[in-house]
Amino acid sequence: MNKIAAGASPVSLGGQKYMKNDVVLQAQGLTKRFTEGRLDVTVLHGIDLQVHAGQTLAIVGASGSGKSTLLHLLGGLDAPTSGTVRLHGQVLSDLSPAQQGRLRNLHLGFVYQFHHLLPEFSALDNVAMPLRIRRLPYAQCKQQAAEMLAHVGLEGRVQHRPAELSGGERQRVAIARALVTQPACVLADEPTGNLDRSTAEGVFQHMLALARGQGTAFVMVTHDESLAARCDRVVRIVAGRLEADGAMGGH
Ligand code: ADP
Ligand code: MG
Repeated sequence: MNKIAAGASPVSLGGQKYMKNDVVLQAQGLTKRFTEGRLDVTVLHGIDLQVHAGQTLAIVGASGSGKSTLLHLLGGLDAPTSGTVRLHGQVLSDLSPAQQGRLRNLHLGFVYQFHHLLPEFSALDNVAMPLRIRRLPYAQCKQQAAEMLAHVGLEGRVQHRPAELSGGERQRVAIARALVTQPACVLADEPTGNLDRSTAEGVFQHMLALARGQGTAFVMVTHDESLAARCDRVVRIVAGRLEADGAMGGH
């Protein structure tokens, strides 16, 4: 049982109420086969996975085992060959690309190994971007972005551009951007994979604190077993299949 959600009252995120037992993201029978040119590789073989509101979940596995592919399917960034992904109860493949985009903006945040911040924009404007996509008033976008940057300890860096920040600071900006809409779930692909040990630790702590404080679920792909073990739940991908739940998740 997830620590923060236990006994918690409904959490309001993104204007929605999520109860602790709500399934925010559900994968059923996911397979993914790449057939391009001479390639024919089946990367995922029937993945079933549920992510509950407020839960932190680590996905571990060897390089090439299908972790990023799975995360892309969960986020609707790529379509499965068979099987379904439900985000907040809606089957993604039933929706048009525009509807999927709206649902993503409403319920999901993304963090990548490389920050993918816009180089010409300040930290503040990068974090404000998902809110601006919602066409909220600019002053409100800036204010919420500034608050989220303060949550990750970057109140002194709001006007810096990505090139003027350290690697750890850039990842903290990326995390602030993923969380600024108060999504139900953040999908993070090796968010600390490019950082040294102590910087990774700081970034990870910010993520856990925000996930638990805000009730946001986190699905994090990581190579780092010690970081994974601090999540509520750990699942391991081996050759495109999920192994039974790791008991190392601190239940
Ligand atoms: P991981 O993130 O666990 O390192 P990936 O999900 O990136 O692994 O990749 C899993 C396997 O799928 C790899 O063997 C990779 O070569 C293959 N793969 C990923 N994307 C594609 C693609 N677009 N076309 C063909 N093969 C792919
Ligand atoms: Mg990967």
